[in-house]
Amino acid sequence: MTNLPIGVEDIKRRAEGLIKDLIRWRRDFHQHPELSYQEERTARVVAESLGSLGLEVHTGLAGHGVMGVLHGVRAGKVVAYRADMDALPLTEEVDVPWRSQEPGVMHACGHDFHMSIALGAASLLREVRERLAGEFRFIFQPAEEGPQENEQSGAQGMVAAGVLDNPAVAAIVGLHVAPNLEVGQLWYSPEVVMAGSDHVVLTIKGKPVHGATPHRGVDPIQVGAQALIQMQGWLAQGIDARQPVVLTFGRIAGGNRFNILASEVVLEGSLRYLKNSGRQQVLAGVRKILTGQSVTTGAVLDLRVRTVYPILKNDPVLSGQAVSVLEQVLGAGRVKLHQPAMGSEDFAFYAHRAPAFYFFLGVRSPGRAGQSLHSPLFNPDETALPWGVRAAAGLLMGLSEPEEKQGSGGVCQAPR
Ligand SMILES: [Zn+2]
Ligand SMILES: [Zn+2]
Repeated sequence: MTNLPIGVEDIKRRAEGLIKDLIRWRRDFHQHPELSYQEERTARVVAESLGSLGLEVHTGLAGHGVMGVLHGVRAGKVVAYRADMDALPLTEEVDVPWRSQEPGVMHACGHDFHMSIALGAASLLREVRERLAGEFRFIFQPAEEGPQENEQSGAQGMVAAGVLDNPAVAAIVGLHVAPNLEVGQLWYSPEVVMAGSDHVVLTIKGKPVHGATPHRGVDPIQVGAQALIQMQGWLAQGIDARQPVVLTFGRIAGGNRFNILASEVVLEGSLRYLKNSGRQQVLAGVRKILTGQSVTTGAVLDLRVRTVYPILKNDPVLSGQAVSVLEQVLGAGRVKLHQPAMGSEDFAFYAHRAPAFYFFLGVRSPGRAGQSLHSPLFNPDETALPWGVRAAAGLLMGLSEPEEKQGSGGVCQAPR
């Protein structure tokens, strides 16, 4: 059992006491969503809120990134909590008084929840600062929702800005709301949490001729169709069924006119994997198929692959500690093991640099079906907010305690 600087009932009472602030913060963010790298107002509100809570505030990190820092009064570890700030290009269809006021932009991935929970945890920790060990960093990053080509993700930028350094963080914690999990429940995976993800672009160059005489040219649409079917057939049978990989194509473009063979077709897709060996195996197999297509048709096939996010892995030792803290803080039966997901998350960039623990927070109202993330109908249950604060604050306090002091009751010393 981890030594917490304040009792679990105290954490619960304080988190539930924050409900009005949590809802106010969440609804304010929700009404004013901003797209990736445009989080100007959001960052200003976050910085002002952290400042008014009495934290040391750093702004302008990786664009609109913000970090609030709180020091405990005893020596301990540096622990960070990550929240993301960006919204999605969607028009909200949820009819609530706090619906998005920005046409075509919506917090449909719950990042408004993530920010509200981070502010709530900062507020709770600030109230009990005199009993805390270590240093707490509340990281609010821009641009989690998938960088464009030639852009870095928000997490990459925050890592480059040094949020994990000087002194190095001993643990970083992050959560994502889970719309299919009931309020009051948590999911975690001890190691691999989410897939690595690549953006693949297949360009097929043919030989355009009159549509009446295909034998004189090379039809890249025909080659593309064959390549797609061959790739899916090979994925189904060429990969060990115990190796989870997904390759899907979401965009296809080519051709100008119905009676001219296209000169070029471009297919864009997403490759997901839970092991890098799976990624390599898929790419090797796909390249083999494409080479075969090229030989038999005369088309020129070019495959470009860009890793969007690496595999997100929790640190297994930290995971064990974190789950024990969560069970202590939330009560038994609320923290459940979960299969790795094929979605991806730029939290992976923090996890590559520091021991990390990422988990899922239930936001589904009891007795109701949850709407999916990235849906215009996404409407998470706000009663999940204090649960998120209990989990986040509990983890921050539990993981910052110095190892040698654990179980000692925590004697005040060395204020900084
Ligand atoms: Zn998202
Ligand atoms: Zn998200």
